[in-house]
Amino acid sequence: MNLPIVVIGAGPVGLAAAAHLHERDLPFTVLEAGDGPAAAVRQWEHVRLFSPWRYDIDAAARRLLADAGWVEPDLDVLPTGAQLGADYLQPLADLPVLKPHIRYSARVVAVTRQGLDRVRTAGREATPFLVRLADGTDLLARAVIDASGTWNTPNVLGAAGIPAHGETTAAGFVDHALPDVLGADRDRYAGKRTLVVGAGHSAATTLLALAELVEQQPGTSVVWAIRSGSPDRTYGGEAADALPARGALGSRLRVHVEAGTIELLTGFAVHAVTPVPDGGVQVSDGTRTVTVDRIVAATGYRPDHSFVSELRLDLDPVLGSTRALAPLIDPNEHSCGTVPPHGVDELAHPEPGFYAIGVKSYGRAPTFLLATGYEQARSVAAALAGDWTAARDVQLDLPETGVCNSSQPLESDRIEGSGGCCGTTAEQAPASSRGLATGIAGGLLSTPLPLVQVAAQGSDGQAGGCCG
Ligand SMILES: Cc1cc2nc3c(=O)[nH]c(=O)nc-3n(C[C@H](O)[C@H](O)[C@H](O)COP(=O)(O)OP(=O)(O)OC[C@H]3O[C@@H](n4cnc5c(N)ncnc54)[C@H](O)[C@@H]3O)c2cc1C
Repeated sequence: MNLPIVVIGAGPVGLAAAAHLHERDLPFTVLEAGDGPAAAVRQWEHVRLFSPWRYDIDAAARRLLADAGWVEPDLDVLPTGAQLGADYLQPLADLPVLKPHIRYSARVVAVTRQGLDRVRTAGREATPFLVRLADGTDLLARAVIDASGTWNTPNVLGAAGIPAHGETTAAGFVDHALPDVLGADRDRYAGKRTLVVGAGHSAATTLLALAELVEQQPGTSVVWAIRSGSPDRTYGGEAADALPARGALGSRLRVHVEAGTIELLTGFAVHAVTPVPDGGVQVSDGTRTVTVDRIVAATGYRPDHSFVSELRLDLDPVLGSTRALAPLIDPNEHSCGTVPPHGVDELAHPEPGFYAIGVKSYGRAPTFLLATGYEQARSVAAALAGDWTAARDVQLDLPETGVCNSSQPLESDRIEGSGGCCGTTAEQAPASSRGLATGIAGGLLSTPLPLVQVAAQGSDGQAGGCCG
């Protein structure tokens, strides 16, 4: 089949897939809904990554960029989302070997097999994929790599996973995770009362920004609602946490809560959201009601499988990743995001030639990392080229020292020191230790996750912790 491989999404992982496909001499087309590369990353451009540059750049992309004279950023610096876009992803997408193969404003609305619905088996494997765009254009493809992310499908406020009563009507009062509270979005929060819902890293980041705004702008106030009975999981290990920035984040949050700058509501599962006639919105858990001007829903993300629902997918019933990947990333088990290397075999569906990679591959698990996605892209591209040896030789260059260094105190944009997770150095770190908790609980889980008691205590027998 001399058709191109379609890559859905020009985010970091979709573009990495394009770079690997180019290196493999495979024809490809990247379809991106936004009007430029990294459309999702640009939405959180004011947020600083917790991984330094060395873990944010794909190897094939680096080779292509280097050939074009690109000057690599300081690998120990933590870029912002804006820098990731401007200094890496935009130049990558603009490379003459990639640019002609990327189509912007090209939203994929459906993927199927040409002339075959999900039920038809005969001749399936030899039948091209049909990819439909929002403007009605149909494209044929020999394989499809879905790197469309999860940014556009945030979780709802409703604690049961469905919208709270009135949530849809009250949508105008709700912002999704990580608004630029101290920058572009300041006016929406200054002098206002804001409710932040969620217990993950995103909630903590927004709460700290709002606490700063409280000091700067009289009349600003902050309420924080979590489903669990205690904020300890969000505070994390604090000083005992081997991930320093997470520890610092938790400590700073605790100080604000204890000082009353942030008003905490524990055991608060959002049940109803009701706009009030004279402005503002009431949020209720069925027994308690809080009235605020704005709500920030930092409740995590979920994958959108609807546009690939005519394909034969083998999805884990809990996470919505592949079933093979789920046990490796289940946040109920893997509190620190430790993930063994994985590639094409763990990403395969019963539909030959279709793979979801990048943050979408993790479904609802909140611990995805770019480095993981780049290895997925390499492995899948190798498999599509028929190089199964390379495809199955999965590796992940993410030593624990990077994990921990990448969580420097928030005010720092630079990696200092060499102490690894649990005090190991890169050399000492076991090769199988992977990952970083992008949000630990990620605001996704209703049941408490184990505290990440890394370092001092040693293993408590729990699987998959940073030191576990
Ligand atoms: C605030 C924040 C900070 C993070 N920090 C780090 C970090 O420090 N280190 C780390 O390793 N990871 C980090 N992550 C996690 C992860 O690496 C990022 O989410 C990353 O952007 C995922 O890349 P991706 O290419 O899989 O998806 P995305 O970046 O979401 O890209 C998906 C692309 O697909 C496009 N798209 C979506 N639907 C369609 C469609 N139907 N048709 C066509 N195009 C479509 C989107 O417009 C988008 O451009 C962070 C995530 C967030 C949200």
